[in-house]
Order: sequence, then structure tokens, then C-alpha cells
Amino acid sequence: MKAKEKDLREIGEFGLINRIRKWITSSDPALVQGIGDDVAVIKMGAKALLVTTDILIEGIHFDRSWLDPYQLGRKSLAVNLSDIASMGGIPKYFLISIGLPKNLPLSFISSFYLGLKKEAKQFRVELIGGDTSLSQKIVINICLLGEGRKKDLLFRKGARVGDDLFVSGTLGDAALGLKILQEKGKIIGAEGLIKKHLSPCPRVELGQTIAKHHWATAMIDVSDGLLIDTSHLLQESGVGAQVWENRIPLSRLYRKWVHPFLKDFFQLALSGGEDYELLFTAPSEMRERIPYLSRSLKIPITHIGEILPKKEGLHIIREDGKNYSPSRLGFEHFK
Ligand code: ADP
Ligand code: MG
Repeated sequence: MKAKEKDLREIGEFGLINRIRKWITSSDPALVQGIGDDVAVIKMGAKALLVTTDILIEGIHFDRSWLDPYQLGRKSLAVNLSDIASMGGIPKYFLISIGLPKNLPLSFISSFYLGLKKEAKQFRVELIGGDTSLSQKIVINICLLGEGRKKDLLFRKGARVGDDLFVSGTLGDAALGLKILQEKGKIIGAEGLIKKHLSPCPRVELGQTIAKHHWATAMIDVSDGLLIDTSHLLQESGVGAQVWENRIPLSRLYRKWVHPFLKDFFQLALSGGEDYELLFTAPSEMRERIPYLSRSLKIPITHIGEILPKKEGLHIIREDGKNYSPSRLGFEHFK
């Protein structure tokens, strides 16, 4: 009998990316970072060219019944801005390719571009081109270019044993907002959570400030969930970590609304996606400076864990002192 061929369910999105990374290797000396980080980095003298791309597909990433075209335009660019933010880079230019169904009203596309324009203006980036095609569902792909000083940029690799682990903002709000949209449509008083899902705000200024001051050793944006994105940072840095559950930053709205939807209080904060916060590591000597940064930018930054040797893996310490290694880390396509 012929053995059943492996499919994507078995290896998942990240298993596939790891394979692609082995199939495609590069020896180009100008390529500082290829596959394996939030952004590709190409050396251009003392500066570096940053390139990132993200795709949004109707029915997978968004639903037209709850995300309006204006919000979709803003969000399409925001998710790419977040990747540039995670390197501490300056976003500059973007191209957008769109696949659209024939019966889509023109007003949908004009509102989409209005949202795109608003986000572009806020973050001072310019649309320079793209591509357009017929498609059964709406597909949006943006390729965003940015720049940075090579010596300032922060990568997923670079974390060292003994470093502190920090995260910006609060976690789990967007995932809870999405759950509310899916299960109830709307709840009076929980609009703030839904807004976090529909209108994420990329931490571009925070990323640039951290990079410029050389406070951090590694950084990633939290797009698929705290634990899975932490595990990417750990893997690239060749280290392990512990995260203290009771230090995970939670919003007042998350605390208020999580219970009717989930038994496990921390689940969405640990492994829900789309927070678009920044997760970074910094040597303990920097610990005193972080509160100043947080106050000056008015963004909460929380010390949630520490970097350990690789053999420790990733584990979570509960309030009662017990620790566990989570089985589900976060969102992964095909799984
Ligand atoms: P993020 O969540 O920050 O957007 P991803 O997990 O999508 O990052 O991607 C991780 C790395 O894998 C990046 O370097 C990205 O460019 C690369 N990558 C993702 N998909 C592909 C692909 N189909 N072919 C080549 N590289 C890919
Ligand atoms: Mg990312």
C-alpha cells in the first residue's frame, strides 16, 4: 500500500517556512537578513533597506460583515507597519496588489483606498504601485519598504541568557474582540476590545526609540500570539525563557469580559493573535530605563519574564509557583 503523503496539516505554517528556508539559501553578501525575521534586511552602505510583505484574505483574515472597507484599508497597511516597527525601522514606500470579485461595488474600493491613504499619511509612507486582478474572494497583499541604520536594527536573534523580557501594551484584547464579534456580534461596553481587533495601531515610534537607544538585544512584533512569537524569538536567538503568568499585561476590558467567553483566564492573552505589540529583550542593566521610555511615549511596557538557557525551553510560571510548558502556542495556518 502506498504511504500517505504528508500534507500541510502535519507540518503547519512554520514547518513549511522552515522547509522553504532550507530549500532557498543565499550567499549574497549584501543580504543581512533573508527568510527568518519580520523583515528582510539588505545592506546599502551604512544604511539598510527593509522589505516586508503580508497577505490578507477574505474569510481567513477578515469578514466583510464586520470589517468595513475603510478599516480594511487601514489594517492592511498597519500589519506591515508593525513588522517594520519590530526592527526599529522607518517605513517609507509600499506597493499593493489586490484581487477583487467582479461584483464588488466601486464604493467599497474607494473607501478601502481612503482608509489606506489615512494610515499612509499618519505613518508618512507613500503608495508607489501595485497590481490588480480578478479573484473569487478579496485578497490584499502589501509589500512595504523601509530603511534604518544597520547598527540600530533589532532582529529576532540577539537575546542572551539573563536578559529581561518585555512587552508593550496589553495582550489578548484583539483576540477577545474577535471572539465577541464571532459569537455575539456586539456587546455594549466591550467596543474597545472589538476596536483593537478592527483597528490595530502599530508601535512604529516605540520600535524606533528602542532601536535608536540600543536598549534591546532582540525584538519581534506579537502578531500570532505572545507565546508563539516568543518562541520564534527564542528559536532564532538559541535560548529559552520563562514567562510569569501574573505579570502578563491585561486591560480592564479584558479582565471584565473574558469570563463569559473562556474558562481559561489567560488563554487569549497568551496565545490569541493580532495584538501587534512589541516583544523585546534587554540586559538587566537597562531595567531602570524602561519606565522612562514607557512614560515618555505613554505606552505601557511590562517586564514579563526572563531569558534562560536553550535547554529550559519556554515555560510559564503560575501565580502559585507551579510551572508548565504550554501545548498550544498560538495561531498557525494549516494546523
Ligand atoms: P510575520 O508573522 O512577522 O509576518 P511570518 O511568520 O509570516 O512573519 O514569516 C516568517 C519569515 O518567513 C519571514 O522572513 C518571511 O519573509 C518568510 N516567509 C513567509 N512565507 C514565506 C514564503 N512563502 N516563502 C518564502 N519566505 C516566506
Ligand atoms: Mg512579525
